[in-house]
Amino acid sequence: MIREFTCDLHIHTCLSPCGDLDMYPKAIIAKCLSERLDVIGICDHNASENVGHVMEAARGTAITVLPGMEITTKEEVHIIALFDNMHELAAIQTFVYESLHGMNREDIFGCQPIVNADNEVVGFNERLLIGATGRSLRETVGEIHRHNGLAIAAHIDRESFSVIGQLGFIPPDIRFDALEVSCRTGIRKAREMYPELADYAFIESSDAHFINDVGRGKVRFHMGNPTIFEMKLALGGKKGRFFRGSDETC
Ligand SMILES: [Zn+2]
Ligand SMILES: [Zn+2]
Repeated sequence: MIREFTCDLHIHTCLSPCGDLDMYPKAIIAKCLSERLDVIGICDHNASENVGHVMEAARGTAITVLPGMEITTKEEVHIIALFDNMHELAAIQTFVYESLHGMNREDIFGCQPIVNADNEVVGFNERLLIGATGRSLRETVGEIHRHNGLAIAAHIDRESFSVIGQLGFIPPDIRFDALEVSCRTGIRKAREMYPELADYAFIESSDAHFINDVGRGKVRFHMGNPTIFEMKLALGGKKGRFFRGSDETC
């Protein structure tokens, strides 16, 4: 049976150095419930240590947490990677950490706490998460797909750290599953702004770094289950699955 799932697929936690300290697992889930979100993607910069804790905080609720990450490629392009399970995410985490060098400077970039579902700080990530990996755009998208994930070009309507801002175009041989824009742009306007990208699926998400921004950008997927496979069908408009932005009517 196909039903509607309201999704915000790009949410940070306090683990991201630029994420607010109030973005701890329990608070994120509470806000998602009040925003009536069904599916969320947890995507910290180059790291994933809080994902399992957010999944635990969501236990007993109807919210599906997709394990994810926002990867910075060597071209300084942000890519959202989303998976069905922690096993696939762990493989991508290894791929990222193998080429992410340097240590965080809390005084400059902010702290990177790992917080469990009981609001306890259980550690700190000491790596330079704000940095770029040594992985190319092509390599990264290929690796995400190799692990059955969804590869989304992040915030293409922003100058900084977007594929359009960094390269000026999307290399035609790199098959993103979707291109993300913010709620300020919205999907309808994005289609007007980027007619050359008409073949791509545009999605909208919040890229929330602060609790009040969670759910500010969302898409409604019409699909059987909240899985990556079903999302790929919906993004392609296949087998009766489809999706809509908040500025589009069904
Ligand atoms: Zn980003
Ligand atoms: Zn982000």
